[in-house]
Amino acid sequence: MNQDTICAIATANGVGALGIIRLSGAEAVKIAQKTFKGTDLETVKSHTVHYGYIVDGKTQEARGEKQEAREKSKEDRPEMEEDEEFNIQNSKSKIQNSESSLTQHQTSNTTQELIDEVMVSVFRAPKTFTTEDVVEISFHGSPHIARKILEVLVKNGARLAKAGEFTMRAFMNGRIDLAQAESIADLIASENEASRKVALNQLKGGITNEISVLRNDLLNFTSLIELELDFAEEDVEFADRAAMNQLLLNLRQKLRALIESFQYGNAVKNGVEVAIIGKPNAGKSTLLNALLKEERAIVSEIAGTTRDTIEEVIHLKGTAFRFVDTAGLRETTDVIEKIGVTKAKEKIASAKVLLYLYDERDSTTQEVIAFVKEFYREDLKIVLVHNKVDLTNQETPNSFDATLNQELFPDFCDELLRISAKDQTGIEAVKTVLIDYVENLKDEESNVIITNQRHFDALQKSLQSVLQVEHAVSSGIHTELLAYELRNALEQLGEISGEFTNDEVLGNIFSKFCIGK
Ligand code: GDP
Repeated sequence: MNQDTICAIATANGVGALGIIRLSGAEAVKIAQKTFKGTDLETVKSHTVHYGYIVDGKTQEARGEKQEAREKSKEDRPEMEEDEEFNIQNSKSKIQNSESSLTQHQTSNTTQELIDEVMVSVFRAPKTFTTEDVVEISFHGSPHIARKILEVLVKNGARLAKAGEFTMRAFMNGRIDLAQAESIADLIASENEASRKVALNQLKGGITNEISVLRNDLLNFTSLIELELDFAEEDVEFADRAAMNQLLLNLRQKLRALIESFQYGNAVKNGVEVAIIGKPNAGKSTLLNALLKEERAIVSEIAGTTRDTIEEVIHLKGTAFRFVDTAGLRETTDVIEKIGVTKAKEKIASAKVLLYLYDERDSTTQEVIAFVKEFYREDLKIVLVHNKVDLTNQETPNSFDATLNQELFPDFCDELLRISAKDQTGIEAVKTVLIDYVENLKDEESNVIITNQRHFDALQKSLQSVLQVEHAVSSGIHTELLAYELRNALEQLGEISGEFTNDEVLGNIFSKFCIGK
C-alpha cells in the first residue's frame, strides 16, 4: 500500500471554464480539509460534492469551527473576485452569505488567503479509481489558480503525482489490469470514433477476457500433459491426444486472429500513412489540397517546388489518414530537393497506401511500371492515380491506362483511378479506396482488436511457444520438454495483463501517461 498522498491537475493545461485537481491516498480527505473552508470533509459521506473555498493559511481556530460551517447550495454562492487577499475580519460581509457561522469565530489576527471558490467531491476507498481515498477539487480553470491550489495541497502534506501515477495505483491496487491501464491512455489519446470504441472495449476488459480464455486453454493443456507424464512409466498410449491437438489448434487460431487484428487496430489507433508520390507537377499538392479542401500545401507551376514533406491528417469513417505530400521523385542536383527525394523514399517505406500520381502527357507507361515494380511490397497498397484527365479526352479508350492495367494488375496493384485534382473530380473515389483499405483489414469475426504494440509482441512470442509445443507433441519429443515452452506461452500472455511483468516495463508504460492520469 502506498503511503504518500498524491495530487495533480487532472484537466488539460491552459485556461478553461473549470479545472480539476485530484488527490489520492490515505490522507487525501484530511489534506483537502486542511485547505477547504466549508463543510467538514472528514465527516461527509462518500461520493458527495461540497461547495466552499480553497484557502491558504487556515488556522487552528478556523478548523475548530468547521463543524459549524454548513454546506450551501450553489444558488447562494456569493459574487467574489478570485485570487484575492483577504483579511477574514474585513471580508466578513463578502462571505457572510455562505458561511456566516464560520466567520463569527475568526480571531482578529487571523489572515487567510482565499484562493478560489470550488466544488469538492469526496470519494472514499475502496470504490474509487485508485481504490484509495480520492478527492477532486473543481476550480475556476485558470492555470494560476491551479498552481496555487497545488502549492497549498503540497504545503499540507500531499506530494505532486508523477506521470500516470493515479492509473499505476489503480493497477497496483488490483482495480484494473495492465491492458486496461493502457486503454485509459488510449482513450485519452483517441481522436476519432474507431479509436475511442476500441479503447473503450479494452477498458471494459475485452482483451483481458480474451487473454484469460487463452490462459485457461493453456492450463487445460498443461493438465493433459501432466496426466501423460503420470502414465509415462507404464508405457500406456495417452488416451486423449486428439483433445490435446484440438486444444493446441484452438490456441493457435485464437492467437493468430488476435495477432492479425493488429493491422486493423494499428490503423485505428495510429492512423494510416498515405504517401502521395509522383513526378514534379503531377498534381500531388493539388490532390492533397482537394482531399483536405484547404489550400495548405504550396501549389506552384515551377517543377520541384514541393520541396519537403508535408503531413496532413483527414478523418474518414472514423479512421485518421495521414497524408504525406512529397517532393517529386526525379533525380535532381538541387541539394534541398535531394533531401526531399530521400524523404519521399523514406515515407514510402513507412506508408501503408501509396497514391502514385501521373500526368499522361508527361509520363511513359514504362516509367510508371518501373516505379511500381521498384516500390512494390506485399504490405503496401499501391493505387495508380491518373491525374489531369480534364486535359485529355476522357471518352477515348486510353491505351496508356490499358497498358498499365495489363502489366501491373493484379500482381502489383489493383486500382487505377482517373481524376482531375484541379476540378476535384474523382476525389470521392480516392477517399473510397482509402476507406475500403481499412475496412478490408477488419475481421468481422473477432470482437477484440489489438491496438498495442506491446500486446502484439507478447502474442507473437506466445504463438511461437505454442508452435514449439505443437511441434514437440507431433514429433513425440518427451513431454517434460514441453513444460518450458508452455510456461513461456503462459508468461507472455500474463505480460499483457500485467501478471508477469517487471518494474522497467511498468515504468515505461506509465511514464507515457500524462501527469494527473
Ligand atoms: P506537384 O508538383 O505534383 O505537387 O504538382 P502541383 O499540385 O503543384 O501541380 C502542378 C500544376 O498542375 C499546377 O499548376 C496545378 O494547378 C496543375 N494541376 C494539378 N492538377 C491538375 C488537374 O487535374 N488538371 C489540370 N488541368 N491541372 C492540374
